[in-house]
Amino acid sequence: MNLQGNLNSVREKIAQSAIHSGRKIEDVHMIAVTKYFDVGINQHLYDLGVSEFAENRVDKFILKATILAQYEDIIWHFIGNLQRRKVKKVINHIDYFHALDSFALAQEIEKYACELKKCFVEVNVSGEESKHGFSVEEVEPFLRDLCLLTKIQVVGLMTMAPFAATSEELHEYFGKLKNLQEEMSKLNLPYAPCTQTSMGMSSDFEIAIEQGASYIRIGSALYE
Ligand SMILES: *Cc1c(COP(=O)(O)O)cnc(C)c1O
Repeated sequence: MNLQGNLNSVREKIAQSAIHSGRKIEDVHMIAVTKYFDVGINQHLYDLGVSEFAENRVDKFILKATILAQYEDIIWHFIGNLQRRKVKKVINHIDYFHALDSFALAQEIEKYACELKKCFVEVNVSGEESKHGFSVEEVEPFLRDLCLLTKIQVVGLMTMAPFAATSEELHEYFGKLKNLQEEMSKLNLPYAPCTQTSMGMSSDFEIAIEQGASYIRIGSALYE
């Protein structure tokens, strides 16, 4: 595995897509999804200048965040579905939570978070049945419901595209999420600035960047 080579190649593609769509490279955050590997890979990537990591399992996440706690500049993203009963254990290790998908989960975060928690609301843009997340129509009412809570800050919206989507469909889904994010931002809810989008993975991040992604989640492309 040539981590340095893969990382360079992903960074090059990010730069190309950003330039191609008239965007600034700094506005696209690459999150390294390290769920497939142990903490040695995180250390290696950190030494290569990567400081944003994502995991999707609670125990592995806590283990890595604890081992690497000395690196205060690391930003820890949690991208998996989080069961309510595990919120207490993990929430205060998380910098960005990408899978807020119910009011019950928001209430649990409210209960256990020690400070304001940056969250992405997960949206099921494609309507695929197996996917978690709110439908496009449900997002605004959900954001309004959050006004009663004091620990949730909605920084943006997150989506996962269907595995088998064509590039045309990917443009459509990512474009829809970007539009919805801009609409939600205009509501001017103080606890939901909603200025960011978390969309795009190894197979589709270039399209996501063209459609305005600010956080892309890259796993397998780093480890080929
Ligand atoms: C695993 C995972 C990724 C990374 O996927 P790759 O195809 O390996 O880049 C991104 N987002 C979520 C939510 C994931 O679970």
